[in-house]
Amino acid sequence: MFVNFNMPTKLVFGGGCIRKNPHLFLSLGKRALIVTGRRSAKENGSLDDVTQALDGCAIQYELFDKVESNPSIGTVRAAAAAARRSKADFIVGIGGGSPMDAAKAAALLARQNLNDDSLFSGPYTKDILPSVMVPTTAGTGSEVTQYSILTNDNAKSKTSISTALIFPKIAFVDARYTENLALRTTINTAVDALCHCVEGMLSVKANPITDLLAADGIKKISGAFAPMLNGNINYETREELIYASTLGGMVIAQTGTAAVHSMGYSLTYFRHIEHGRANGLLLASFLSFVGEKDPEAVKRIFSLMGLKGTGELKCLMEKLLGQKEIISDSEFDKFSGIAVKAGNVANSTVVPSREDLKKMYAESFR
Ligand code: NAP
Ligand code: ZN
Repeated sequence: MFVNFNMPTKLVFGGGCIRKNPHLFLSLGKRALIVTGRRSAKENGSLDDVTQALDGCAIQYELFDKVESNPSIGTVRAAAAAARRSKADFIVGIGGGSPMDAAKAAALLARQNLNDDSLFSGPYTKDILPSVMVPTTAGTGSEVTQYSILTNDNAKSKTSISTALIFPKIAFVDARYTENLALRTTINTAVDALCHCVEGMLSVKANPITDLLAADGIKKISGAFAPMLNGNINYETREELIYASTLGGMVIAQTGTAAVHSMGYSLTYFRHIEHGRANGLLLASFLSFVGEKDPEAVKRIFSLMGLKGTGELKCLMEKLLGQKEIISDSEFDKFSGIAVKAGNVANSTVVPSREDLKKMYAESFR
């Protein structure tokens, strides 16, 4: 057995975890840049908790609150410039995956001069601002990953920065911030976390520890689908979801994602379909594809989800995600040409060809 497991982020989980542990900011410096989206962090209590903790530690801070969903390179450069201007010693990212990813990229760009190509490819020096992440959606797990995924107009897709340098130093994970998440965002982000766990289990880099985490994540997220469909999501369910999404992040930090994510990026880039929704629409056909060659692995995943097979999963996703977008054959052709070049497409135990990807797209939107 061979296991390689790297999780350098300190995880602090639970209701009120920032207020209970403000001292953890002390070791990071005297000045912070807080990176958020435009609204939600101000409304869900997360920004207040962070600023109160920083005030209590006599740490000065500035706010960069301009991160859009699927952040652009321009936005992260603006955040990095704000960090330099304010002489920040560290960065706090608060929000869904978009502000957290922007914060990680800004931490890198604040210290390193990287053009639009080398931002994704390196080489990097070790010089980077430390970062703290506070997730407010239960989906991406970005608070515990070494990835920052940005909209890359040069590649006409979403592209990942992937370097252990951008692992956050601390992740504060508190389900209270997700209590008022809209049902649509709750579903999309939960489905994203489910895909992280499923793709992680089918990865060539999976190991016994990632399998344990992924299996627990799949069970917890699947258990939350009924309350979502009833529109009756209580705090315990919110906590299970954000816990599972952090587990999913720990999984993909080791295994990477696979073809579902590579295919999903074009749906987001060209058709503006939310990240988790894009993945959810593709998941059943990916499992059906892998199941032809590796039926035992896929059976195990369905059993963790409490489902009989692809038909039931398709049905569930249709109920959760609603009416599908109409996508043309020529779009499938173009998208599969882009997806086949993505690094993560070859990550699964069964590797799809461009033709397989096109078939999966078509099956998913039939
Ligand atoms: P998001 O784009 O961060 O946020 C979606 C929407 O939800 C925004 O309008 C945001 O509003 C709102 N929102 C966030 N928290 C909220 C709350 N507590 N209450 C109410 N509204 C809230 O969505 P996401 O799905 O979390 O992140 C997607 C991004 O993460 C994509 O770019 C994806 O590629 C990336 N991702 C990264 C990783 C990784 O490992 N780095 C893994 C998977 C996905 P505001 O704008 O006002 O905040
Ligand atoms: Zn994802």
